[in-house]
Amino acid sequence: MKVDWLIVGAGFTGATLAERIANGLDQKVLVVEGRNHIGGNAYDCYDEQGILIHKYGSHTFHTNSKLVWDYLSRFTQWRPYFHEVRACVDGIKIPLPFNLNALSALFSPQYAQKLESLLIRQYGFGAKIPILKLRDSAHEELGFLADYIYQKVFHRYTIKQWDLKPEELDQSVSARVPVYVSRDNRYFQDTYQGIPLHGFTTMFQRMLDHPNIKVLLNTDYQEIADEIRYKRMIYTGPIDSFFGNKHGQLPYRSLRFHFETHQKEWYQEVGTVNYPNEYDFTRILEQKHLTGQVVPHTTISFVYPQPYSPGENEPYYPIPRKENSQRYSLYKQEAEQIRDQVLFAGRLADYQYYNMDQAVARALTLFKQIVTE
Ligand code: FAD
Ligand code: UDP
Repeated sequence: MKVDWLIVGAGFTGATLAERIANGLDQKVLVVEGRNHIGGNAYDCYDEQGILIHKYGSHTFHTNSKLVWDYLSRFTQWRPYFHEVRACVDGIKIPLPFNLNALSALFSPQYAQKLESLLIRQYGFGAKIPILKLRDSAHEELGFLADYIYQKVFHRYTIKQWDLKPEELDQSVSARVPVYVSRDNRYFQDTYQGIPLHGFTTMFQRMLDHPNIKVLLNTDYQEIADEIRYKRMIYTGPIDSFFGNKHGQLPYRSLRFHFETHQKEWYQEVGTVNYPNEYDFTRILEQKHLTGQVVPHTTISFVYPQPYSPGENEPYYPIPRKENSQRYSLYKQEAEQIRDQVLFAGRLADYQYYNMDQAVARALTLFKQIVTE
């Protein structure tokens, strides 16, 4: 078989690049995917009970990039959806990010009012304050509040999720869920938010539906790379395994999902409920809230963080901390040396904690570079 491009991975990064190259450059692409489906971690499918589930954890699309939104909108209409998350704190379900409504739910009206006034005076209404920054506050009562939120929301959750404390990770990790001086209970405030109307997988099918694109599933690229003639490769898998781990393995964090179907319309009040302090799982997910499917029963999933073992589970998360980015930069240097033959992009190949829109933006930027080379 002869193609112009071999693309490894059919997730957001691989599918965007395949679509752009096939449509924009009229060149032939073979996409090779190790799993038995397209879509990468955003894959959704119907379970045996007929519920549309997100097999690898709930995915909510959100972006401030009009470019990315317009690009994906060529392949899907959107179901308007604003994700809401609750965290169970001392038996009370509070909104996340921790906001002024959370203060009202946890403290007496007078004390909540006092803390609210302090937060507004110090940071301004609408401010988003990373928890590790709030902990630096010299103000006694804000310092108390920071310690309280840290202990009740971040400390145990982060140990479960990463096997590390919040301060042992890049600050950007806990800053994804800042303390929010607001009464807006949405998890994201991005301009564009939604769920593909007919699901993520259908959107991916449309992206890859082009005479210049062939998709080979259930295949590690190493099994076929010698048998295919191609000019250049785009690799979206883990960068360390591409180079045979020659600079040592990059650490990743994995997850295990336990699915259950319940014979009632709804299991919980919102799509995600976090349990920072109890249980071994971090979250319970109920995807019906995202998909809007109308059925009398529901499927939920419990999310159990796990160490990553190659060949046994999936490398869902790069682990953002200094020593890991130093090791990654050794691989990046290797990648630059073979740039004429192989391009690296994506959450695993860039070793970056990308959201979906960032993966698409990265792929579109890379495509631009390919065109101008
Ligand atoms: P991936 O989706 O990981 O795709 C890479 C593909 O390459 C995989 O399918 C893999 O099987 C394949 N592959 C790897 N190595 C090989 C090989 N050797 N041969 C063949 N194939 C190979 N983002 C959001 O914006 N909103 C969310 O709500 C959200 N929720 C998330 C929840 C979870 C639990 C996780 C893990 C991520 C979430 N994300 C979310 C992030 C989102 O999943 C990623 O940004 C996106 O999937 C990255 O796309 P990608 O193509 O770079 O990587
Ligand atoms: N986090 C936490 N408690 C929570 C929610 C998040 O400690 O209830 C921290 C935790 O370290 C987590 C990070 O904030 O890994 C980012 O959370 P996010 O919801 O963005 O994680 P993801 O959806 O990517 O798993």
